[in-house]
Amino acid sequence: MKNKKLSFIKQALFVGMVILTFSCNDQDKGIAVNETSAEDKPMNFVIIFADDMGYGDLGVYGHPTINTPNLDRMAFEGQKWTNFYVGASVCTPSRAALLTGRLPLRSGMASNVVRVLHPNSKNGLPKSEITIAEQLKKAGYSTGMVGKWHLGHKPESLPVNHGFDYYYGIPYSNDMDLTRKLTSYGDYWKLWTEEYKDLTPADFNVPMYRGTEIIERPVDQSTMTKRYTEETTKWIRDNREKPFFMYLAYNLPHVPLFASDESMGRSVRGLYGDVVEEIDDSVGQIMAMLEEEGLAENTMVIFTSDNGPWLPTEISGGSAGLLRNGKGSTWEGGFREPGIFWSPGNINPKVVMEMGTTMDLFTTFSSIAGVPVPDDRIIDGVDLSPVLFGEGKSPRKELFYYLGRDLFAARVGAYKAHMITQEVYVQGAKQVSHNPPLLFNVEEDPSERFNIANQYPEQIQKIMRVVELHKANMKAGPDLLGERGPENLVE
Ligand code: MG
Repeated sequence: MKNKKLSFIKQALFVGMVILTFSCNDQDKGIAVNETSAEDKPMNFVIIFADDMGYGDLGVYGHPTINTPNLDRMAFEGQKWTNFYVGASVCTPSRAALLTGRLPLRSGMASNVVRVLHPNSKNGLPKSEITIAEQLKKAGYSTGMVGKWHLGHKPESLPVNHGFDYYYGIPYSNDMDLTRKLTSYGDYWKLWTEEYKDLTPADFNVPMYRGTEIIERPVDQSTMTKRYTEETTKWIRDNREKPFFMYLAYNLPHVPLFASDESMGRSVRGLYGDVVEEIDDSVGQIMAMLEEEGLAENTMVIFTSDNGPWLPTEISGGSAGLLRNGKGSTWEGGFREPGIFWSPGNINPKVVMEMGTTMDLFTTFSSIAGVPVPDDRIIDGVDLSPVLFGEGKSPRKELFYYLGRDLFAARVGAYKAHMITQEVYVQGAKQVSHNPPLLFNVEEDPSERFNIANQYPEQIQKIMRVVELHKANMKAGPDLLGERGPENLVE
């Protein structure tokens, strides 16, 4: 922001000089008026969203055997956030939170259990929600989306009807439209372990869309990551004259895992490593293209993941590193993700240990693009610009961890209280209420190992006051994910 503000001041001085020159010498007009440097251009935004990648799956976040030199470079040249969160720990609500800047319960994209939209779902993200794409369109941005949408697959719910000019991708998860018959809940998990070697992309009859048309079915998932990257770089090159927003959501490393021929067998971590390293290559290609095209200086690239690792998929799932549990849960492993911000010359390179969330991107982008945040609804995002562009503090001091429509936990500062916990992806698991809540200091104890509720009752009281205020202001939307299809043994 420092640069942006400086550039604004320079621009104002420059305009003043032009006016003076114009009034002094009519013939000089127009000579300097077209002079604009790269930093005067509006900031472009690229969000790269991985699926089910855990906090511990990148080299720069400590993985010992997955090699991610491009994401590592992005982190060293930019900001690596170590307390970066999503709005929910499963796909659909997490994506709704990212795009709307709102907790998914508000938009109806949270259900009463760990549930997501499916190929037979009737609903999608309500039209009344404002996406980042719609927000940036107000400032004249071109908007493109490539990859996994998962906010409704009916034509009216697809990205091109939610503010995106362009869409290429699969409208839901890559493990849906399964053509094999499953007879039990346990059968699903076996797919990713002992039976895994038999699977081919034809076992998942997922469609590839361009706009609102299906162009391929089943998708050849082995080339999917490569093609997403190619579509993205082409779209950015084609749209470089206007400010742009690209939302690139890879379907991987969500199971089933497939990699291109070039990437198969490259990683000592096995197939999961092959898939993550191919995504890392893709990030490197996008960075190189932005640098070659002279766009890097006025583009911000953000890399993160929609939720933590899907642990029951065993060797086919990722790792939350030292964080507890994973996808679907309200432990840190479900909600805390890698969060890397890169914009050479604009972002102040450092490791950031303060809190930020994917919901904050809505507000941060709006602030940078000069678009007022809607005032007719509650927006949960805050503006992270003070941290990104300078030495300021993150305005985010609180986090709310929902499982479905229920508030399970809340973090205020270093302390996190679990009012409810529940085992996830375990058939018949029930909610367990805690009174007093379990309490952890997630700065001293990021793995949530030591319950300190008895030592710090005042911290529990402080969190509960924040929770009461939050609940009083929560206007929940309807449960739009409430259907369940015949194939959906696992949600
Ligand atoms: Mg996911």
